[in-house]
Amino acid sequence: GALLAQMLVEPVGIILRWYDELQVAQVSLARLVGVRDIEPESGDGSVRPDGRDVRADEVRFGYREGVDVLHRVSMDVPPGTRVALVGPSGAGKSTLGRLLAGIYAPRTGRVTLGGAELSRMPAERVREHVALVNQEHHVFVGTLRDNLLLARAGAEDAELWAALGAVGADGWARALDDGLDTEVGSGGLALTPAQAQQVALARLVLADPHTLVLDEATSLLDPRAARHLERSLARVLDGRTVVAIAHRLHTAHDADVIAVVEEGRISELGSHTDLVAAGGAYAALWRSWHG
Ligand code: ATP
Repeated sequence: GALLAQMLVEPVGIILRWYDELQVAQVSLARLVGVRDIEPESGDGSVRPDGRDVRADEVRFGYREGVDVLHRVSMDVPPGTRVALVGPSGAGKSTLGRLLAGIYAPRTGRVTLGGAELSRMPAERVREHVALVNQEHHVFVGTLRDNLLLARAGAEDAELWAALGAVGADGWARALDDGLDTEVGSGGLALTPAQAQQVALARLVLADPHTLVLDEATSLLDPRAARHLERSLARVLDGRTVVAIAHRLHTAHDADVIAVVEEGRISELGSHTDLVAAGGAYAALWRSWHG
């Protein structure tokens, strides 16, 4: 909190280069969320993960012909670990996150979950295990119930309420005259941004993937709503493997492993203590941050 405030008041050159979005007045962990749909594609139904280890193995990827954004990136995300990807804007953090979540398939190399290649698994199977959480928190036209059932068709109302409770959204939801039957989305009840994000988090709770790729972003939520949402998010992250694309250092420093991504490569890998001691790019950033 204090650190962040200081950073906003006294932005240092290097931080501005790395984190353009700091110029946005309000920053928060938690402008999140929506279980992102992976393009449905045929996969081999017999390909199943044997374990929960997520690995990138010599992954090369680009969006355009002839331009690689990731150059032979390898990393291991053991179950239960918290990994933070940090680095300059455009370095490839979000891209790596999308590959680890199976949104895109590598050009060469492999991304595996429990030894099975994500790109060979049916998309629905990938989604049962790994979800990408980002700020595209869609509220769809329909009832609140419809919005939640997207994550788990056939869930009982009691499960939907439990999910809303798990993210701290049951208070306002129970106050709605029509409860789960309340029409939301355009034409219906206008949810606040924080409420929309909670609905998206509740969908995550229902989908219950063991691994989350969390693309953090700046938020224009007021600080109280942002703090509230951070608490909701913390509850959702608890017990899961998390790869956080950290656009700001304060959310990265307590990760089990920090991967510094620069120009499509992982240039440094280690805990905060390791990396500060190593005296490389991360250490420079951290130092500049402390003035
Ligand atoms: P930031 O912190 O600004 O989000 P990043 O490290 O997450 O940056 P990426 O978003 O992965 O970086 O972008 C890496 C490169 O890929 C950039 O050159 C970017 O312009 C390009 N890129 C990202 N997404 C797409 C896309 N959907 N289509 C085409 N190019 C893209």
